[in-house]
Amino acid sequence: MNFEDSPAFARNLDQQDPLAHLRDAFHIPTIKGSGEPEIYLCGNSLGLQPKLTSQYLNDELHKWQTLGVKGHFDCEFPWMPYHEFLTEESARLVGAKPTEVVCMNSLTANLHFLMVSFYRPTAKRFKVLIEDHAFPSDHYAVESQVRFHGHDPNEAMVLLKPRAGEECLRLEDILATIDDHADELALIMLPGVQYYTGQVFDMQAICDAAQHHDITVGFDLAHATGNIEMQLHEWGVDFAAWCTYKYLNSGPGSVAGCFVHEKHHDDPDLPRFAGWWGHDKATRFKMENHFIPIQSAEGWQLSNPPILSLAAIRASLDTFKLAGGIGPLRNKSKQLTAYLRFLLNNRLGKHIDIITPDESLSGCQLSICVRSDDKSGQQVFEAIEAAGVTCDWREPNVIRVAPVPLYNSFTDCLRFVDILEAAL
Ligand SMILES: *Cc1c(COP(=O)(O)O)cnc(C)c1O
Repeated sequence: MNFEDSPAFARNLDQQDPLAHLRDAFHIPTIKGSGEPEIYLCGNSLGLQPKLTSQYLNDELHKWQTLGVKGHFDCEFPWMPYHEFLTEESARLVGAKPTEVVCMNSLTANLHFLMVSFYRPTAKRFKVLIEDHAFPSDHYAVESQVRFHGHDPNEAMVLLKPRAGEECLRLEDILATIDDHADELALIMLPGVQYYTGQVFDMQAICDAAQHHDITVGFDLAHATGNIEMQLHEWGVDFAAWCTYKYLNSGPGSVAGCFVHEKHHDDPDLPRFAGWWGHDKATRFKMENHFIPIQSAEGWQLSNPPILSLAAIRASLDTFKLAGGIGPLRNKSKQLTAYLRFLLNNRLGKHIDIITPDESLSGCQLSICVRSDDKSGQQVFEAIEAAGVTCDWREPNVIRVAPVPLYNSFTDCLRFVDILEAAL
């Protein structure tokens, strides 16, 4: 499509957007003083609140007020199986079978519990492939697991670095590293979408390489779920985890998601840290000591889950359903982010570098490095925040902006570029 850099053109794109009405399904924060809506481009960090959320939370509070413990059984959406109400739509979002997903714990906790089952080092195969600059929590989780098994992280962590002068990893380099270390790798743990650069990883190609060498592969989908389309089941991903407060709009610190491929569901040799919520539902309340895992991703659950948080996830997933799922959203997202990229290059090409790779390897987010002699990137960031933009700053040098197809408009992109231009 040939884009134009004008308010009328942006408005026209908004008018033609079949998903534009979904913005009304969200609370948009307003600018202090003026009461105008902010230009909120921070859904990669904390997604906005769907209007359904308070209703769904209040329903659960009301059940607790009026039914007490009976809220587990005798009502609509009983608490006992409440997590099951999230399964179908969560599975659809990541391209999984319903038996392969469950919402539980938090993201880093899930990575640990999944590594208990899927990082099983032997004397020869004990290494983990991870990015040199993974999100710190992922690095800490892997490093502590490696130490827990008695290995030296300097030896057992293979760190993927971009080439000199480059910000993103090339697929050919990832695959070559897998080949080079194939006999020693016990686990590959990579993101679906990189948090700093916004780069989308070719999960299918990485899975193919892992399977070719019989290496277990897990993905952190914090920035991928609700952002891009995936086929975790078909690709043969062994396990994955994601948070629900970024593109899944389920509120700060909300319960996380987890995927375990069905090929592992009935493997009796898998070690796991067990809890009663992972026990066979038919006999859970017999309260016996012998643990019988549910033969699905639910078998990895530990505790009965926080219902208020699950209610917020259900509200968010129902809002995704209004959009017709991730397919139509991704179509809009490609156009929205392409428009933002066009405007940035058209107007500010001399002052910024977009380090996010081109369209085929990016989701919503663009990561912008500022090139200016008289202002630092952080000063520019502070100036645009003061002018009503919410986005974020990531050390060492990037402004991240993510137009989210559920609630951002083409006009948001244009106004953002106006403000950024003024700040520069
Ligand atoms: C957001 C994010 C996290 C956050 O972890 P929590 O356990 O939810 O605090 C971890 N890893 C990645 C890659 C993330 O993007």
